[in-house]
Amino acid sequence: MSSATARRLELLNKRYDGAEPLDVLRGMIKEEFPSKVAMVSSFGTASAALLHMIAQVDINAPVVFLDTGKLFGETKRYRDDLIKLLGLTGVQSVTPDAAALAERDPRGVLWSQNPDACCALRKTEPLERALIPYDAWFTGRKAFQAVTRASLPLFEAEVGRIKINPIIHWTKADIEAYFVEHDLPRHPLEADGYLSIGCMPCTSRVEPGEDARAGRWRGSNKVECGIHLPVGQLPARAEP
Ligand code: SF4
Repeated sequence: MSSATARRLELLNKRYDGAEPLDVLRGMIKEEFPSKVAMVSSFGTASAALLHMIAQVDINAPVVFLDTGKLFGETKRYRDDLIKLLGLTGVQSVTPDAAALAERDPRGVLWSQNPDACCALRKTEPLERALIPYDAWFTGRKAFQAVTRASLPLFEAEVGRIKINPIIHWTKADIEAYFVEHDLPRHPLEADGYLSIGCMPCTSRVEPGEDARAGRWRGSNKVECGIHLPVGQLPARAEP
């Protein structure tokens, strides 16, 4: 991390310590990174809360949605419903590079052979391209989701960019309350036991008492897709 980024992080962490998520979003979009910050949303089970706040601050704010080509149809329909309901105009659905897909996953089964390489192809690389215009981005990560997210800060440094976790300290009850207060629609798979929803081949239902993300890549050691791994731990590209 450069010394300038370190100073910026320190300043942001002081200025927004204890701030409400809506105030963090407003501060980032209007003051700290005008036109230079994007939301990255999975349109998953909790996404509507942050998207609702984004719509209050700026309905034109950029929102990146990674359409990996392996998502549940329910997620894409939920995305379309939320865009319409909230009036968001800046949602960009980002897909993997067609030539790279043809070269590295021509049969669409890379997820079963090398999930890290599949995530690199379908998530990490498209996201890197989508974030080129931005200096910062918002995530919807929450500390309660998994032990691997329990101690995440509000602001994190990446190479050349700052990552912001506005609802990192929210509990499941906070999210529930927000949904109820604003009468937000639920992801259609949530009631069926899917508490954290990614790609269809790599997502399963969560049993009572399990981490919300326990259904992701079940049966393997993999816990993150790569877009949230620290620099230096990003998944390797697939061999052609
Ligand atoms: S979550 Fe599964 S299908 Fe989706 S990109 Fe990663 S390995 Fe591929």
